[in-house]
Amino acid sequence: MNHLLKIENLNKIFNQGKNSEVVAVRDINLEINNAEIVMIMGPSGSGKTTLLTMIGTLLKPSTGKITMNGKEIQKLSSNKAAKFRRENFGFIFQSFNLLQNLSALENVLIADFNKQNSEERAKELLVKLGLEKRLHAVPPTANLDSVKGQEVMKLLCSISCEEERTIIIVSHDERIKDIAHRVIYIEDGKLIREEKGQHNTVCTMKKHRENIK
Ligand code: ADP
Ligand code: MG
Repeated sequence: MNHLLKIENLNKIFNQGKNSEVVAVRDINLEINNAEIVMIMGPSGSGKTTLLTMIGTLLKPSTGKITMNGKEIQKLSSNKAAKFRRENFGFIFQSFNLLQNLSALENVLIADFNKQNSEERAKELLVKLGLEKRLHAVPPTANLDSVKGQEVMKLLCSISCEEERTIIIVSHDERIKDIAHRVIYIEDGKLIREEKGQHNTVCTMKKHRENIK
């Protein structure tokens, strides 16, 4: 069993008062392997962040299951979810304003069930990118997109390859396809199609290269 993550019939409905509900995620089924790099693409408002946030145990699904190495994580109490998150996930959310100028990466989730320090690793990644300092600094005017683009890709790839961590990247930047094993397209809350990324053509680690569904 090589699957890290299994998502079954996942739905998220936001109720905004009387007669107003938004189906943000609709019947998504998806399996993600250990050490796989998955890119999620889709128009604004299509449900990408909602999906990633549910995988990361920050938001409960309305219906459906998210199983990580046999454990149904949507069932965790908020305390247990917090612990699980600390131990298994690292997040880089654009909404934290860390990546204001790195608009290529909307959200990144780094996961590993076995190595209990993905959160640390995500922080290290930010440090390496020189972004953490910017938490307390005036953002530089230079566009990090172009300056740091290649560096980000290499770092994400090495984290996944060398440490066998699963990485889910929400991005609109076509270049990210080069490091992804798979690209998943979401529209109107639905997974509409998926395609192979170019990871196998750029990765130098054979074992990782072959981690393709
Ligand atoms: P994306 O990340 O692809 O831009 P989101 O997951 O943020 O999309 O949003 C999907 C849909 O769910 C949108 O219509 C958005 O307005 C709605 N939505 C997201 N979060 C909430 C919320 N907390 N309350 C109500 N509606 C929400
Ligand atoms: Mg989003």
